This record gives sequence, C-alpha cells and structure tokens, in this order.
Amino acid sequence: MADKGVTLRELKERPVTDLNGVTAKKVEPLRKIGVTSVLDLLTVYPRRYIDRSKQIAIDDLTVGEEGMILVTVSKVTTRRMRNRRSLVEVSVADETGSMRLVFFNQPWRSKQLSEGDEIIIFGRLDLYQGRNQMTNPIVDLVGDRTGRIVAVYPQSEIAGVQSWDLDSLVAEALRRVMKVRDFEDPVPEQIRDRYRLVDRSKAFHQIHRPDSMQEVAEARRRLVFDELLRIQLELVQRKIQLEKLTKGISHNASGVLTAKFHNELPYELTSAQKRVISEISEDLESHSPMHRLLQGDVGSGKTVVAVTALLSAVESGHQGAFMAPTEVLAEQHFSSISKLLESMEVKDNVSLLEQRPLRIELLTSNVSATHRRELLQKLSTGEIDIVVGTHALIQDEILFASLGVVVIDEQHRFGVDQRAALKEKQSDGVVPDVLVMTATPIPRTAAMTVYGDLDVSILDEMPPGRIPIETFWVKDEQEAWESIFEEVREGRQAYVVCPLIDESDSLSVRSVEETFSRLSKQVFPDLRVELLHGRIKTNEKNEIMEKFRTGNVDVLVATTVIEVGVDVPNATVMVVLDADRFGIAQLHQLRGRVGRGSSSSFCFLVGGAGTAIGEERLKALVETTDGFELAEVDLELRGEGTIMADRQKGRNDLRLASLRRDREWVEIAREVAIEMVTQDLDLVRHPDLKEEISVFLEDSDGEYLLKS
Ligand code: ADP
Ligand code: MG
Repeated sequence: MADKGVTLRELKERPVTDLNGVTAKKVEPLRKIGVTSVLDLLTVYPRRYIDRSKQIAIDDLTVGEEGMILVTVSKVTTRRMRNRRSLVEVSVADETGSMRLVFFNQPWRSKQLSEGDEIIIFGRLDLYQGRNQMTNPIVDLVGDRTGRIVAVYPQSEIAGVQSWDLDSLVAEALRRVMKVRDFEDPVPEQIRDRYRLVDRSKAFHQIHRPDSMQEVAEARRRLVFDELLRIQLELVQRKIQLEKLTKGISHNASGVLTAKFHNELPYELTSAQKRVISEISEDLESHSPMHRLLQGDVGSGKTVVAVTALLSAVESGHQGAFMAPTEVLAEQHFSSISKLLESMEVKDNVSLLEQRPLRIELLTSNVSATHRRELLQKLSTGEIDIVVGTHALIQDEILFASLGVVVIDEQHRFGVDQRAALKEKQSDGVVPDVLVMTATPIPRTAAMTVYGDLDVSILDEMPPGRIPIETFWVKDEQEAWESIFEEVREGRQAYVVCPLIDESDSLSVRSVEETFSRLSKQVFPDLRVELLHGRIKTNEKNEIMEKFRTGNVDVLVATTVIEVGVDVPNATVMVVLDADRFGIAQLHQLRGRVGRGSSSSFCFLVGGAGTAIGEERLKALVETTDGFELAEVDLELRGEGTIMADRQKGRNDLRLASLRRDREWVEIAREVAIEMVTQDLDLVRHPDLKEEISVFLEDSDGEYLLKS
C-alpha cells in the first residue's frame, strides 16, 4: 500500500510561510487576500487562462482588430490631464514592431509596469496620430512563465499581490505536495468513476498548471464536485441527524377535521395542492419533526395548505401557530383563516358537550394587556387551538399547552435558534412540525444548496380561472394614469408604488410623499387617494389598509410596505414608478397584489432601465408571470451571490462552483451525499471527507447552513 496522501486538513494547518517563496514582505499582502495556509493558497484559483497558441505579433494585427500579444515594456510615463485624471503611457515592442498603450485613470499602472517587463496584453488595435495604440488593454504580467496555457490569478493592487507571485507560490506548493505523497483522495473511486472525475492530485495540478483547456475543464469539474459535495454532505447529515435525534409528534393527518375542511371549500383543490398536502401529511404523521419549505407563487393557494396542516395538529389534540412577517399581515391572515374555519368544531374534553367550536385567536402587540394575559393563559391551557401572530410568537415567552404545528409565512430565515426556541415552548422538549412558506421561489438547485437541510415542496400550479395579469413597461406614466382612471370608473382600485431603498432613507419617503401630493392634487383630484409608507404609525396604517380593503380608497400610493400578502381582490391596477430600481422578485411580489379577483388586471412598470441588466429584468417581467421562471432569470442575471448572502455569512466554500453553471453538479452532489449519509450517518467510513468538511465549514460556515 502506498502512503496516505496529503489531506486538506494538513494543508490547512501548514502555514504559507513554510514555502520558500513567502518572504517576510509577502506575508501581509497574502493575509490581506485571505491566504495564510497552503490550502488557502491552493484554493486561490486562476481567474482565467491565456492560451498562447492564440498569441500573435504586433505586425500581424490590423487596426480595428482585437488580439493577444506578448510584448516587452520599453518606457513608462505618467501625465496629469487637465481634469486631474491621470494618463499612463507605456511603450512596448515585440520582434515585429512597437506600439503605445494608454491607460486612463489607472495611475497604479506606472508602478505595476517597468522597463524590461514581459507582459501579455489583450485589446483592440487603434491608430492614433499615425501610431499603433491600444487603449486600456487587459494586461497580464506573466514574467518568464512558459507553457502554452498560462494561468492568470486574481491580482490585488491594494494588497500588492500579483498574478505571478501567486503563480510561483502555487507552483512551489504543488511541487512539494506532489513530490512527497500526492493528494489524498477522499472521494471513493467508485463515485469518481461513475461521474468520470479525475483524481484530486490531477485536479489541483491541472487547474493551476494545465497543458490544455481540456485539462482545465476536467479539473474544474472535479473541484466543483468537491465543493458541492462538502456542502451537501453537511446539509444532508444535519437534516438526517435532526430527524433521528429530535422527538416530534406523530399527528393524525387524515382525520375528520381536514376532510370536512376540504369538503366545505367552495372549490376543488388543485392537483399541486393535493400533492403538497400529501407530502406534508406524511411528515406530520411521522415521529420526527417536519422541517419543510413550501415554495409557491403568489396566489398559488398556500393558505389552504397551511390551514390543513394546522388542523391536523388540532385534530390530534395539539395546537397550531401561524406566524406572519408583519402585524398587518397577521391581522389579514387571521381574518381569512377565521373565515375558512368558521364551521369547524372540535372534540371538547372539558365540558360535557361533545363538540365545541374551534378557537382561533389573534395575538399582536395591538391587543390590550389584559386581553394578552388572557390569551397567554388560554394558550398554556390549550383552550386556544390556533393562534395567529407575527414571528414574535416564538421569540416571546409564550407557553403552549402543546404546540403541534407551526406555519411561518415569508420567512426563509428559520434556523437552529428558532428551532431551539420552539423546543422551549413546551415542557416535554418535543419539537413541533414546522412549515416555512415563501412566495419568492428560488430555482431548484439553488434551493438544494441554500435550503438543503429542509425538505422542499413546490406549488407549481395556479388555481383555475385566473385571468393573467397584463404587464406593460412604459416610459411615460400617462398611460398608467389613464388605466387607473378607467378601472376606477368601473369601481376598481389601484396601487401606485414608489421605490424605497431603505426605510430610513428620508429622500425616498419624500419621493413617495411627492408622488402622493402630485397624484391627489393634480392627476386624480376627484379620486380618493391615500398614502402608505413605513413611517406611518401602525394604527394609522391599519386604518388606511382597512379603508382600502373596504373599497373606500381608490388609489393607494405606497412604498413596498404592501409587497407581501396584501390581499384586495378589487384592486386591478399596479403601477410601479422607477421600476428599474426594484429587483425581479420584488416586482413580481408587487405585481402579485393585483390579479386576485375575477376581472382582468394590469401592471405598469414605469421608467427607463438604467442598465442592460435592468432592461433584461423588466423585459422578463413583461414576458412571464411565472415566479419560478422569473427566479431562473434572476439567478442568471444576478449570480448566486445574492441568494447565498441571504443565508450565508462569512466565507463560503463555493469558490469555483456556480449554482447557475453547475446545476447538474448540484444534483449529482446531493444524490451522492444522500447515498453516503444514509449508509453511514457519521461518515465513519469516510473520515477524510468528514474532516475536510469541518476544515471548510469551520469558519462560521456550518452555522449559516442552518441559521439565518
Ligand atoms: P398564496 O398565499 O399562495 O399567495 P392564497 O392562499 O392567498 O395564495 O390563495 C389565493 C386565492 O386563491 C385565495 O382567494 C384562495 O381562496 C384562492 N384559492 C386557493 N386555492 C384554490 C383552488 N384550489 N381553487 C380556486 N381558488 C383557490
Ligand atoms: Mg399567502
């Protein structure tokens, strides 16, 4: 048997200063870019590669063409222009000719480049005052590196780390690892074979020192797989551990209450609702606590699903809690859920009568102190079956007689802390079943990574009979105002939303106020126009919402406070001003405030798009009303950073992997993780893998996976 190879843990423990190339002067710059260990160094991957076979000579390049050229610097001069910007001029030459490079506003170039340097430049050849010139070309300082493919590392001017610094250090590190023992490969050969993955030594070598772009691709696949596998192993492990180690309640999910509830609905459940309800029921009946995310677009009918789950708890002699993100929404949910449950009766164990009406209560900060005390009392004795409130329900010291099911609306940030809080809600330490709902879907593979510790259900079908919302992107708001006139004449209502970047941003509040005064005085002097934003007191806000709900307001001018949950079926026009300042998900949520009734609805996105991406966003909204499709577009446009940032703080292990590009690998990694963990929960048969998960996740990353 060969010696055991070098593990990532060993490389993590090996300070980068052990390398000969790391002089005292380089320690600090390296630290600045996050490199203190040899592992850190080896996971600084090349930003791109130069394929020297594509290189041409100055003489062969024609004016107007782009090309890559290896040149030698002969002179560097800096000038200040009249506008105080800097201009760096660099004369370069190769064997066939010479030319000038000009850099605008990159003063550091004069320090970066000096006479005699060999650099590779990429840019378009222009003619300026009769001389060959390139303006702001891409510059790679390759030093005397040879080989057909040259790796270019991320350079940091601020830290003072150059591509070639990293290149030579990486080379030394690789040489030392390979000379002794090679890398240990913790992924079983059988799995590597199945997915045609190169071994780890090859992967590290080829990503840094490839002989062809084909080799780069092979190496990347392997390293991407490793990154994703580590995350999935961690998530799947935690998920299965939680299921095994915590005690949950086995509910009766197919009793008379839920049956009666479904029978009395004025409509038939969609097949998606039926599927999701059965997924949830299975969880409810099992002994381990449910931790499920329900993704369903606005209007897909999540409430009925949630209420079904709450009823299962009640039916089984437990209580249910429904938590909304704001008090306004809690009140709204309370009124709609109460209505749905009007005729429900439950077994009464206290009185002599056999049945009593199901008791549902609202608990917000608006209830009086006496009433609150009474509610808390009844929650602790079990006299209340279902309580509706805000997320504060689990934070406050509220004791339940037996909390069986918790539904959390619009909060993706449900993690270990809250779970622990739930555990303390009851004396016996049994954990209730948790259903988290969101109307902001994210693509499947992204969900697997971000919410990989949850089970995910998807409501991907709209109740029948919905009239799709027509969306228009208009430069001129007049069109939108006309539509509002028409709809209000028909007895309908409208929203006008202004951007609010930050609640504390007084400028934006003023802009919603300005819009309000303009609309109420000039555009719609004869209509009932009201203003709603985050600075308005809760009581007043509720009053205005109530007036809008009951049809006593025609036009509601608002900030995004109305983004989630507001449900007024008579509202048929949504106008979003400066629409390009909102993200896709937000616009989709806003649009979802209309199209809730039986008449056609319209959405006007007003304003130009400042950027190409902004344009793509608005176009996507015009083209589709499907939230899942929009989520894909969003991921495509923004990258995963933003999605991950939601749940993930600190460094993450996704250095190469992209949730967009590597969707297929996310699924493969998940499959492999499930396969490995179900056979071997603690990964005792794969100690190296287990160890390396902790190496990568130890910097607070383990936390993010379950926490906020
Ligand atoms: P969500 O919370 O997912 O945005 P809701 O639960 O508020 O959606 O449902 C939106 C509307 O659709 C409600 O008015 C509800 O009564 C109605 N609805 C729900 N399920 C169905 C169904 N299967 N058929 C017809 N209408 C439905
Ligand atoms: Mg809802």
